[in-house]
Amino acid sequence: MDYKIADGHTDMLLNFNRDKDFCFNKNNKNFHVDLPKLKEANIALEVFAVFIEDGYFPENALKRTLHYINIFRETIASKKDIVHIKDSTDIIRAEAENKISAVLSLEGADAVTELSQINSFYNLGVRLITLTWNRRNMLADGLTVNSGGGLTDLGKKAVELMNQLKITIDLSHISQEGFWDIIDLSSKPVVASHSNVKKIRSIERNLDDSQIRAVAKNGGLIGINFCPQFLNTSAADVDGSDIIKHIDYIVKLAGIESVALGSDYDGITNTPVGFENIGKLQLLAEKLNKNGYKSREIEKILYLNWRRVFLENL
Ligand SMILES: [Zn+2]
Repeated sequence: MDYKIADGHTDMLLNFNRDKDFCFNKNNKNFHVDLPKLKEANIALEVFAVFIEDGYFPENALKRTLHYINIFRETIASKKDIVHIKDSTDIIRAEAENKISAVLSLEGADAVTELSQINSFYNLGVRLITLTWNRRNMLADGLTVNSGGGLTDLGKKAVELMNQLKITIDLSHISQEGFWDIIDLSSKPVVASHSNVKKIRSIERNLDDSQIRAVAKNGGLIGINFCPQFLNTSAADVDGSDIIKHIDYIVKLAGIESVALGSDYDGITNTPVGFENIGKLQLLAEKLNKNGYKSREIEKILYLNWRRVFLENL
């Protein structure tokens, strides 16, 4: 039996600008994510990120964000196999109708210069926001800005508003200070949608033990990123066992409820051996089983943890 799978991060929307022949409905051999591959893996929930390429930031960030939101709404959300998730009942309906729950997210709130824009993005169907993508924006410092800065005053108000609007807050890519500001402020479970364990692979994008415990205590989760450089120091030989190591570590440190998947497919260039695209994800269930996980535990890691966090936020 195939497990239901939730994946907390793909940059698939960028494919529409990478290749004019990219088609969501067909199998594209040069890309990681499309509808046939989502079905092959029995993906029940996917988070589609809007990422703003460097050349558009800051002046054209809003224009570019709206461009990708439009692609999502016209090309993904309109499909009969997809339910664009706007509230908790949509997830229940998608499950009952055996459709894919599609969550629209912003990877970096780079387009936000005033609070009312968050309301506008909510109205367009955005339900998860990663506050920064590495750089500095009006809400917070990203992790490449070594200024010791966390959330701005606008960022603090944005966190409150997102809690009220039921937009899930994503901590991946934010500075240390911003991370802790959000942990202090958020009244809802937060996520690190695509980040790994720093103790295993010491890079800035991964989380230290205190951060992992804080996300777990808050009722949130950490989605494991498949980027080989985030999984292991010798990125050349990375395979499914490296993914399992990060999962095991979080389970032991913080509990089975706090780990999930955030593959970053189509946001990463290289992939772990055996996990060349999202279609291969059922292999992870086999590997978890071989590593002693019971089926209920596998269900939590692969689907139920993301489902719980979204149901609590929506
Ligand atoms: Zn990212």
